[in-house]
Amino acid sequence: MICDKCKSEVTVDSLYCRNCGNTLVSNANSNFIRKNNNTSIIVGVLVIVLGIIACGLFFMSASDITTSASDMITLRSQSGTSVAEAYYQDMGKVFKGFAMFSRAIGISTLSITTYMGTRLIKGK
Ligand SMILES: [Zn+2]
Repeated sequence: MICDKCKSEVTVDSLYCRNCGNTLVSNANSNFIRKNNNTSIIVGVLVIVLGIIACGLFFMSASDITTSASDMITLRSQSGTSVAEAYYQDMGKVFKGFAMFSRAIGISTLSITTYMGTRLIKGK
């Protein structure tokens, strides 16, 4: 770039002109912006990583719920039908639904954090 004061060529990263010692304001500004961008990228990546972790946790708990829900449903077919067992099976179905809901929340969390993270990384 060119020094504002003496119009001599200076390297892009320098804060002062080598020829006249003039403070290169535009360079200081661009350095500040670059630092800000770095922080945004770190925060953005962190947000995405947290989203992936949250999504993973939701999926893990969802598969746990699905397993116990399946156990609840299959118990009835092994031991016949009483009112209590029918109720137990219905609870199993509710838990299965809840597991799907949990997965949906996991995917939503991941999409939202990925969107937010990419925006932060892009700097807008
Ligand atoms: Zn100069």
